[in-house]
Amino acid sequence: MIVLSERWGKRSRTQWNLANSALCAAIQSGFWPVTFWPVTSMLRVGASVRIARFDDDRVGLVVGESIVDVTDVVEVSPGHWPPVGTVQLIAQFDRLRPALESALASRERHPISGVRLLTPIPWPSKVIAYPVNYHDHGHEMQASYRASNQGFFLKPPSSLSGPADPVVLPANPSREVHHESELAIVIGRTARDIDAADWQRYVFGYACLLDMVVRGREERVFRKAFDTFCPVGPWIVTADEVSDPASLGMRLWVNDELRQEANTRDLVLDIPGMVEMASAVMTLHPGDIIATGTPAGVGPVVDGDVIRIAIDQVGEMSVPVQQGISGHTPVFDTPYTPDIVKQR
Ligand code: MN
Repeated sequence: MIVLSERWGKRSRTQWNLANSALCAAIQSGFWPVTFWPVTSMLRVGASVRIARFDDDRVGLVVGESIVDVTDVVEVSPGHWPPVGTVQLIAQFDRLRPALESALASRERHPISGVRLLTPIPWPSKVIAYPVNYHDHGHEMQASYRASNQGFFLKPPSSLSGPADPVVLPANPSREVHHESELAIVIGRTARDIDAADWQRYVFGYACLLDMVVRGREERVFRKAFDTFCPVGPWIVTADEVSDPASLGMRLWVNDELRQEANTRDLVLDIPGMVEMASAVMTLHPGDIIATGTPAGVGPVVDGDVIRIAIDQVGEMSVPVQQGISGHTPVFDTPYTPDIVKQR
């Protein structure tokens, strides 16, 4: 293990612990010949371990292109309502970690293509979202404010959907529904009044997030709260897998047309600042999600489109767009077409 430690010393703590314990357990259990290739390929490509929810509310660890079922390890009861299993996993992660590492080393791996991935945290206490947090998006929307002086809004947990779920457009044909490509932060510990300098202690991980919105001038929450207007996934990457969350490339395509391309270094209010501002107002809890804001390039989607979001070191997901029959409200019968000033 020592030789490997030196060779793979640049890998993060989780990769380390999981990889080392996987190798040790494989050797000790006599599994080594069987697990040789998966384990070494994980090391070779430096694939990170991610936490996913799948099929009927099961919990899995994703390694490369495979998934290990750890539902029993994290003491989740599939189908239990409310579905708080992954919130409990995050709250108990330090205690559960050795058992997770052991399960990863010894259990059968299944191709991820054979499971249906669900949104990783379906029941957070809240989804916090920062509006106008990239200057180029502020310019395209001609907004005079920024998240740093405007604060945040909330999206309801009921708007969350997963990487295999469609975005369902409400039946308001007078209005455009736009995509917003965003990095999601997942909170790891209960806390209030977090100092920006201490932010790392409270961030559990990251995911891709689409902040879908009906364009208009009505209340922001009203326009952003429809069911399926907050796809999150495809999994949670733990914080120590991400070398620098303030330097992540993010891209979004609609039907292979690149619409948004940015880097988190251009956030107006940075991640420590977002954690500090949110926790100044509210107690943050494990599993709470922060949508960090979208860069320029927002635009409409219609029935039949496919939205694809990819964030460096975090993951990628594609969601189809479908026209629904629910969601008509006369408030949106008055047409509104945003005057977007193209930035590139
Ligand atoms: Mn947004």
